[in-house]
Amino acid sequence: MSAGGPIVVVGAGLGGLAAAMRLAGAGREVTVVEAADVPGGCCGTATLGSHRFDTGPSVLTMPGVLADTFAAAGQDLERWLPLRRLDPYYRLTFHDGSRLDVVAGADAMAEQVRALCGPAEARRYLRFRRLLGELFEAEWSAFIDRDMTRLRALARPYALARLAALGGFRRLDGLVRRHLTDERLIRAHTFQALYVGLSPRRALGVYAVIAHMDTVGGVYFPREGGMHAVPRAMAAAAEKAGAIFRYGVRAGRIETDGAGVVAVRLDTGERLAARHAVVACDLVRAHGRRGGDGLLPEEAADWRLRRPRFSPSCLVAHFALDHRPEGQAHHTLHFGREWEATFAALEAGRPQPDPSLLVTCPDGHGPGEGGPAVLSVLEPTPNTRCGADWTTLTPRLVDRMLERLAALGYGDLSGVPRMVFDPPAWRRRGHSAGTPFALDARFTQTAWFRPSGAARRVPGLHFAGMYTAPGVGVPPVLISGRLAAERILESTP
Ligand SMILES: Cc1cc2nc3c(=O)[nH]c(=O)nc-3n(C[C@H](O)[C@H](O)[C@H](O)COP(=O)(O)OP(=O)(O)OC[C@H]3O[C@@H](n4cnc5c(N)ncnc54)[C@H](O)[C@@H]3O)c2cc1C
Repeated sequence: MSAGGPIVVVGAGLGGLAAAMRLAGAGREVTVVEAADVPGGCCGTATLGSHRFDTGPSVLTMPGVLADTFAAAGQDLERWLPLRRLDPYYRLTFHDGSRLDVVAGADAMAEQVRALCGPAEARRYLRFRRLLGELFEAEWSAFIDRDMTRLRALARPYALARLAALGGFRRLDGLVRRHLTDERLIRAHTFQALYVGLSPRRALGVYAVIAHMDTVGGVYFPREGGMHAVPRAMAAAAEKAGAIFRYGVRAGRIETDGAGVVAVRLDTGERLAARHAVVACDLVRAHGRRGGDGLLPEEAADWRLRRPRFSPSCLVAHFALDHRPEGQAHHTLHFGREWEATFAALEAGRPQPDPSLLVTCPDGHGPGEGGPAVLSVLEPTPNTRCGADWTTLTPRLVDRMLERLAALGYGDLSGVPRMVFDPPAWRRRGHSAGTPFALDARFTQTAWFRPSGAARRVPGLHFAGMYTAPGVGVPPVLISGRLAAERILESTP
């Protein structure tokens, strides 16, 4: 047995994988238990005939966080998973027929803005871009990249004052409108609120850092294998560092004695001795109903999960195309005409009247332009708590999406083979409330108020993944895995 005792990680999503890589890299004895047959969780893969596609994230930002995770396991990201920076990062199209390519570099981007909105807005954009950088600096090390398991982590008066001075505690919409005036540019820098499950009017200004991460920091993609190559490479690197993977088996119960975690009982009945457990899956399910019938012991109850507020969900349709549309960007966001009404509908649990669509069309699925490709189209929707009859709603939304895609110039895709993931499908895949985006990031579910990364009354029990801080998305869950690993390494050096 290794010094510090055995560690079981529950869930080989990106959060669990990050924890496993770091712990194995530090020489600890690590077993990862994953219910599915492959690693990745949300960052999954599927096939449609001979077409393979990603079922989850497509916007990879902050590759440095991923590189740091590989380095902690003694591995070089560039060797395992060469990435390329997309150009443009995004293409944004607006209902008036205009478009904006989000490109690398302040000057090149200001030029795009000048061409679309004029020189005065381009100057305002450059000032706003500097503000985004300052917000990011103020937040990153003080809050995002920081262990929030103790209240005192929040007690950073200088950092809080700096954030307040920069407008971080205003609403995102108001903050951006103070600096930009062109409605299209405002949308380009506020739509990211949806990544944390909120409307720009509801999200705090601190979430402008997401716009910094993708529009300034850049969007990346694996050179080969799509996004699912990320968890595959992480699992392989963790194995190389000594971690053992158990696929196709569920963790059924974390066992404790008076002193903390002692084992993880699998659904097969097998018992894995454990001094620490990192639970990196849906925490609402893991807690189960009252009476401690879930994966977690009753003493692990977290008051922050008493009334969980879930993010909206999404409907994603993947189309297997014979030919990649010529000139298609990797990511295209087609904004609808409506804006306020779309968010109001989501908040009220209704489908958006005129949704913005994120269209992802990676190249590399065939011999360059014109070869076979998968077009993945994501529309935000309410989650399954809205009470809709999805057996009728999903076909209606898909028909509307097909009409919209045709109007946007993608042609008639109705006869093209497709695979659709709707909120009930996310629920069947194990996500509470039929949303793969966990809890939204309202103030009362942010930082210290988000479910804790450690169970205070159960020594040895840690949490990682999107249900805990810093939150949803690839970089945040990688960070949550790092924070869990660091706590374990500090507590049992
Ligand atoms: C359609 C979609 C688009 C997205 N787009 C982006 C994007 O562009 N950019 C971005 O940054 N993020 C995006 N995200 C979000 C991002 O993918 C997630 O936040 C992140 O991958 C979540 O990782 P996780 O490890 O917290 O959880 P998960 O990926 O949910 O992993 C949890 C794992 O635990 C396993 N598990 C559950 N219970 C048990 C058990 N009892 N025993 C064993 N195993 C168990 C599950 O099978 C799963 O593999 C997207 C997500 C989706 C679904």
